[in-house]
Amino acid sequence: MSSPGSTKLVIRSADGMYLGGDANGWRLLNNVYGAVLFDQDPVQLSRTLTLLRGATGLTLEAVPLRLEAVFETCDRCRAMVIPLVAFFDGREFLCPDCRNQSIA
Ligand SMILES: [Zn+2]
Repeated sequence: MSSPGSTKLVIRSADGMYLGGDANGWRLLNNVYGAVLFDQDPVQLSRTLTLLRGATGLTLEAVPLRLEAVFETCDRCRAMVIPLVAFFDGREFLCPDCRNQSIA
């Protein structure tokens, strides 16, 4: 996943839902954790938004998302994971892979 401190864009509908899925099946999610992350290339993003508006008929907007504001960062490998799967061992936050390595 992306390095800590990076900002991506997510696509949000007028009623606050986030675009998830992929070109084979877009869907709207009520939280940001499964949202598709886009780079901030304005030309590419403009094309993507136009395609998505045509395919879904929805009013969509791109909004910036600071990854470190949403995800936990593993203190060992620096991977970013959703808070639901982050594990705190009393000293550090661990991603599932590092947690499994410390158990084994
Ligand atoms: Zn880790």
